[in-house]
Amino acid sequence: MNTKILSDLHFDNRFVRDLPADPIVDNYHRQVAGACYSWVNPTPVRAPQLICTAATVADLIELSHSELNSDVFVQLFSGNQLLPGMQPHACCYGGHQFGNWAGQLGDGRAINLGEVKNSQGEHWTLQLKGAGPTPYSRTADGLAVLRSSVREFLCSEAMHHLGVPTTRALSLMVTGEQVRRDMFYDGNAELESGAVVCRVAQSFTRFGNFEILAARNDVELLKRLVDFTIGADFPHLAAEHHGEFTDKIYLQWFTEICKRTAQMIAHWMRVGFVHGVMNTDNMSILGLTIDYGPYGWLEGYDPDWTPNTTDAQGRRYRFINQPQIALWNLTQLANAIYPLINAVEPLQEALTVYRTEYAVLWQSDMANKLGLHVFTESDVDLVDELHHVLQVTETDMTIFYRLLANVNVQLPNGIATQSDEEVISVISAAYYHLPSADAISKMAAWLRRYRERLMQDFIIYGEIDAQRKIRMNQTNPKYVLRNYMAQQAIDKATVGDYSEVKNLLALLRYPYVEQPEHEHYFARRPEWARNKAGCSMLSCSS
Ligand code: AMP
Ligand code: MG
Repeated sequence: MNTKILSDLHFDNRFVRDLPADPIVDNYHRQVAGACYSWVNPTPVRAPQLICTAATVADLIELSHSELNSDVFVQLFSGNQLLPGMQPHACCYGGHQFGNWAGQLGDGRAINLGEVKNSQGEHWTLQLKGAGPTPYSRTADGLAVLRSSVREFLCSEAMHHLGVPTTRALSLMVTGEQVRRDMFYDGNAELESGAVVCRVAQSFTRFGNFEILAARNDVELLKRLVDFTIGADFPHLAAEHHGEFTDKIYLQWFTEICKRTAQMIAHWMRVGFVHGVMNTDNMSILGLTIDYGPYGWLEGYDPDWTPNTTDAQGRRYRFINQPQIALWNLTQLANAIYPLINAVEPLQEALTVYRTEYAVLWQSDMANKLGLHVFTESDVDLVDELHHVLQVTETDMTIFYRLLANVNVQLPNGIATQSDEEVISVISAAYYHLPSADAISKMAAWLRRYRERLMQDFIIYGEIDAQRKIRMNQTNPKYVLRNYMAQQAIDKATVGDYSEVKNLLALLRYPYVEQPEHEHYFARRPEWARNKAGCSMLSCSS
């Protein structure tokens, strides 16, 4: 039961208590050396208005739901007020952007308010995104616009309920301020509504927080930050090593980061999520999906798809490349912490753990998606063939896997008597175009092969079709946040109608559950959305 009112929240701000602050308190853009963060207050806004809150996030900090509708809540989470115990600050980090070292980046438009400690002893950092400039804003304004804030709010919650590790979002507000954005970087800047999301996570520390210290050769502070992170965010490791910080604990810590990252990426690949900007400053030390920008969901299964127009040339962050990029990013983190370990081989071994962990998870995820009990060697070919067949005719990934659960192994007349058209009818609602004769025969051949494979499992495990369907539906979501769905919520919100944001939040809370009243969301992307801005292409401008 959540009993706390806002003023009862208990702040225990370990990050700022244990780590050094930038001595300069004025808010102007600068390089910040020798410190992990800078003190900075949110910029007050004119007319904040609540759009939506996520009650399940309030639960994490045991905040009474009735508080979510209070005026104080709006003032606090738009940046107009602070609670006693809040210590607002922006963190210093660097990062590799699109494969190149970019130097200091930092929280340019994120301000951490503090760490709420709940009755379970968990610490949850509250962070405002879009609450004004910080010393890390470089030439930008520190603000966020409504469209990108709706996207972050909805997607982080959708991901959580899909079972994907992620930062959370407590609230979404409009600020009443106008923000100038050049959405397509084509010189046509326009004024848009400003907005603020309150993000919530156990830690917002990124690979880049360590990289910046290594790049500056500040090994002493690097060690302090690593030791702090292990103590605060990986307490089981600190306990196991009796609080002794040697290369052993550092390696175990790094290995755990490798595993968590592998788990996060495996989830992305399972649900068809493309992050779009996997720079090392957007990689969480806890393996959380963080920084929702020009992300997207595969609709037609296309392994080379990227939603990010900024990435259209090199397609570095395309769907199929994500596991490889995560490894590259982990390698940058390994380089950064190298001075604490001074040995290459054990770091390489940890990176091998990433590969193995990812490979194992990918196989078990594919087995679950296909309803198989175990993934055998010959299933590699079955899956390869599927990925080929899915691209012959544009085929919606989410719909395909959800419908695949309707395949029946025990057909009354056997498989052989069915025509190709009959065989594929189970999944044909996933097609964006009429399949050619060749496409039909390929898909039918795959489905026949798949049925035979299911039959092998049936002989061993005796699981009936209905039971397998239940299992598959726990892995293959029915509802995901397609970009056009987010865009429809944004279009309404832009004219002050927040109903669709709330509607989608409610829908996406149960992505694996049949919701007959919401069946229209279980549909292919409409054709009008194919090339519409925000629905298929997104820039980093947010
Ligand atoms: P992102 O691509 O969103 O991960 O951002 C990369 C860097 O740019 C981070 O340091 C952000 O804090 C910063 N940044 C992005 N947008 C803004 C903005 N509107 N104002 C200030 N800093 C920003
Ligand atoms: Mg970022």
